[in-house]
Formats: sequence, structure tokens, C-alpha cells
Amino acid sequence: MSSPVADLHLHTRFSDGTETPERVVELAAQAGLSAIAITDHDNVDALPAARAVAARRGIELIPGIEMSSSAEGLEVHVLGFFIDPANPILQQHMTEQQARRVARVHTMVKQLQAVGVRIEAEEVFQVAGEGTVGRPHVARVLLKHGYVSQLSEAFDRYIGPDNPGFVPGSPLPPSRVIQVIREAHGVPVLAHPIYLKRDALIERFAQEGLAGLEVYHSGHPPEMVRHYEQLADRLRLLRTGGSDYHGDAKEGLPIGAVKIPCALVDALKEWRANAFAR
Ligand code: AMP
Ligand code: ZN
Ligand code: FE
Ligand code: FE
Repeated sequence: MSSPVADLHLHTRFSDGTETPERVVELAAQAGLSAIAITDHDNVDALPAARAVAARRGIELIPGIEMSSSAEGLEVHVLGFFIDPANPILQQHMTEQQARRVARVHTMVKQLQAVGVRIEAEEVFQVAGEGTVGRPHVARVLLKHGYVSQLSEAFDRYIGPDNPGFVPGSPLPPSRVIQVIREAHGVPVLAHPIYLKRDALIERFAQEGLAGLEVYHSGHPPEMVRHYEQLADRLRLLRTGGSDYHGDAKEGLPIGAVKIPCALVDALKEWRANAFAR
């Protein structure tokens, strides 16, 4: 028997992934994973349905989330593992953040209309369906109307930072979302540090209560993995990893594309037991 492995960064239809929670768990079982975390953007609605299938398939389902925040004009994503999805402070945060995401789409569409892009917010909400709405849903509408020929082109020309349709995902600082995750007894971990590039900021987040770093990620080339392993050691941060699976929204990236040993999951549990011991 090979040693057990986990993928701790998966999206479903409840944010910008394309698969149902049931299907995500099923695919994880087929990929031979022992543990997974579903980490939808600012949303935990996938968890009940996923939990039922995980129990049947004998997979450990870690309740997770990926929260948006900003620092120095940069988008900062913080993962929360082992959160209590029913925690009132977390619930309140998600309600507010989901409302901000809806308002953001209206602003993005207005900004795009100002440069001659004729799309409507209503169509973005239709594409998003249930759960949180995000930039990938705007990208799909731009693709459908022929403004771009690939989703990534939408981020390069219309809705990425410095583009006319860009609006940040959240005005809250990372310290606030770290605090919300800890209130819900979760383990806060900085997602895909490669997209941030600023190690000095990571050091500050560590002082603000961050517990871990997503060292292993589908966007990290091997030399960056080594770099972040060393940074995590230096800042005494836990290591996590995951594929950042989005279904068909990110092609060529299956569940289990990034696998980590379950010993790292045990380390998260140990940190949590110590942090929230009473
Ligand atoms: P949002 O949370 O609404 O700002 O959207 C962030 C999501 O957009 C990420 O989780 C990715 O799924 C997607 N995304 C970000 N940048 C790109 C890109 N350059 N190409 C394709 N998808 C992207
Ligand atoms: Zn996403
Ligand atoms: Fe992210
Ligand atoms: Fe993600």
C-alpha cells in the first residue's frame, strides 16, 4: 500500500468550479485520495452534499474555504481548513462578502460598458448559478459574446489587475479574514504565494496570525516549491498543498494534480488542537 495522500484545494459549482460537490468527491475517490478539502471562494454551501458522498466513499472531507482580501493593492487569498461552517461570525462574514461580490459584478459590468463592452450583469449571475459569483463568470460571458477567444484572455485584457473592468475581490485586509477563520476554529493558510510574490507581506501575515503556507500548488514550479518550503520553515508556518481544481474552468488540471502526504493534514489537526484547546 502506498502512503495516504490528500488534495487540499478544490472548487465546486458553489463558486467558480464547474462540477457538483458530489462529483468532486467521486473524482477524488477515483484518484485514490484519502483526504480532500473543498475550498470554495467565500462559500461553504458545497459541504453538506460533499459530506454525504465522502462518508460513503470513505474519504476524509476537511471543511474548507478560500477567502478574498487585499493588501497593498494585491489580491490575497487565505484558505481556512477545519472551519466550523455554522460559526456565526463566519456566517456573517460570508453574507457580507457574497453581497460585495454581487455589487462588484455590477461595478465591473459598468466599467466594461464604459469601454464599449456590451454585456449585462444579469447574464453573469445566470452563468454563476447558485453560490458565489466571481471574475471567471464574467470571463465566460465575455467569451460567449466573442470579446475574447479564451478565458485567460479575459483576465489579460478586461478583468485582470490594471484592466478597465478590474475591481478587487474584497476591501478587507488579510488580518481580518485570518481572524474570521480563527473565530471559526479554522487553520488560516496563505493560498498560492506565487501569485503574491512578496515574501515580506507573508512575514507580516505570519505575525497577524497566519498558520500555514500553501507550498505545493499547481502554479508553483519546482524551484518555487523549494523556496516556499524554506520560507515556511523560517517563519514556522505549516505546509499545505492542493491542485486548485476548478473542473472544466481550468483545463488540464485534474483532482489530485497536486498531492500531499496525509502527515501534513495531521500537522494541521495538531496545530488546531493546540490553538483552540480549552
Ligand atoms: P475572483 O475571486 O472573483 O477574483 O476570481 C478569482 C478566480 O479567477 C481564481 O480563483 C481563478 O479561478 C480565476 N483566475 C484568476 N486569474 C486567472 C487567469 N489569468 N486566467 C484564468 N482564470 C483566472
Ligand atoms: Zn477560483
Ligand atoms: Fe485563489
Ligand atoms: Fe482557489
